[in-house]
Amino acid sequence: MLHIVACIKQVPDTKIIKMNPKTNTMDRSSAPAILNPYDAHAVEEAVRLRARYGGVVSVLTMGPPPAVKAIKKCIEIGADEGYMITDRAFAGADTLATSYALTKALEKIAAEVRPIDLIICGKMTIDGDTGQVGPGIARRLDMPPLTSVNKVAEVNREEGYTIVHRKLEDGYEVIRSTLPCLFSVEKEINDVPYSSMPNMLKAARYQPIIWSVNDLPDIDRTQLGLKGSPTIVSSVWAPQKPQGGKLLEGEAQQQVAQLLDVLLTRKELFTAPAAIQQPTGGTQ
Ligand SMILES: Cc1cc2nc3c(=O)[nH]c(=O)nc-3n(C[C@H](O)[C@H](O)[C@H](O)COP(=O)(O)OP(=O)(O)OC[C@H]3O[C@@H](n4cnc5c(N)ncnc54)[C@H](O)[C@@H]3O)c2cc1C
Repeated sequence: MLHIVACIKQVPDTKIIKMNPKTNTMDRSSAPAILNPYDAHAVEEAVRLRARYGGVVSVLTMGPPPAVKAIKKCIEIGADEGYMITDRAFAGADTLATSYALTKALEKIAAEVRPIDLIICGKMTIDGDTGQVGPGIARRLDMPPLTSVNKVAEVNREEGYTIVHRKLEDGYEVIRSTLPCLFSVEKEINDVPYSSMPNMLKAARYQPIIWSVNDLPDIDRTQLGLKGSPTIVSSVWAPQKPQGGKLLEGEAQQQVAQLLDVLLTRKELFTAPAAIQQPTGGTQ
């Protein structure tokens, strides 16, 4: 039976989040927590693959207790099972420590629940933005990482391979990989439809399986949380807003003429480069 696990993260809605002007960090209390939009597409793709080939779709998250809400959202999309790892020991994790903790949970699911054929991640999160966690998990599990997947042509569990399209800057490439493997998916891979009423009712009652650090066997605590995070955010600053500026209007030729006019009358643009703003203060 095909077993797909989608890794999902709860994030603040960065469309409406406010920045703290003193520390230049996100004021997480100023925005509601949502399912990372890329991860909704990861879960939807897993659900579509289950419709094509049968099987089970699980979702896994690492986060604080309120992240249960993100798992419920995935059940609304159509996932069968939800797993969450939550513990103070995971707090302050960078992408290296996050991928380590998630790998340990994936190993437990594979050993104690059912083997995993496919892991699907979003391309990136809208708060961390690194896109490193998916490839990090694949590396630790010694699986091929297939990034920027925008179409899944085939998953053949019996013969142990999959064929996907990977988005490139100027087109796409078709890749055949062995299973198990890990995809990280682009948003255009699918449209996430409105949830059905039965799924919404199921989600309302659903309680995920929750594990703490003590439930994960053979875990090396020095690789978790802040202790296991070599990333140091030395400073954070907001880029300066461009001053003035003029919108070019009209046909292309008219725009070129306007641009030339600006360049010829503002000779200072060709002299000394603007001073580079020095970063000041702030931590993540
Ligand atoms: C020094 C430091 C301290 C930090 N402390 C905290 C903290 O205390 N609390 C906090 O929330 N963040 C913290 N962060 C941010 C945190 O490290 C990242 O959010 C996290 O490692 C994931 O990276 P990302 O968001 O860039 O994910 P990406 O690599 O962009 O995510 C790609 C995909 O990986 C999967 N994924 C990512 N994260 C998770 C997850 N947690 N569970 C399941 N799947 C996931 C999803 O499928 C996602 O689409 C800290 C970062 C640093 C550098």
